[in-house]
Amino acid sequence: MAQRNTWQRERVREALADARGFVSAQTLHATLRDENTGIGLATVYRALSGLADSGEADSLQSPDGEALYRACATSEHHHHLICRRCGLTVEIEASPVEEWAKRTAAAHGFQDAQHIVDIFGLCADCAAAI
Ligand SMILES: [Zn+2]
Ligand SMILES: [Zn+2]
Repeated sequence: MAQRNTWQRERVREALADARGFVSAQTLHATLRDENTGIGLATVYRALSGLADSGEADSLQSPDGEALYRACATSEHHHHLICRRCGLTVEIEASPVEEWAKRTAAAHGFQDAQHIVDIFGLCADCAAAI
């Protein structure tokens, strides 16, 4: 099937790149609406899941189950530290987690194991503002 709405996907990609950290489809849609792009929420959802599928965006679930997206600086495996108030995101390495995950999977006879580990909290600015 031909890819329709390519400019919309492109615009969503740009908005995602401009975001400060992980954002929800609703947040991104609100930004695009403010810019009068006329891009609908359903299109934003589709574009974001397409970007995640093609590896151009990282996606994860917030603690309250909302899907969040971000255009990450690297496509290498990494982890995130995310402020649950403002969305500020820091890409982190977690060597102890890599070893633990490998060891634990192997101990249970699992191969080709993957893991998703992200830390949610309050950034220094937000903690100071409360
Ligand atoms: Zn914050
Ligand atoms: Zn890892």
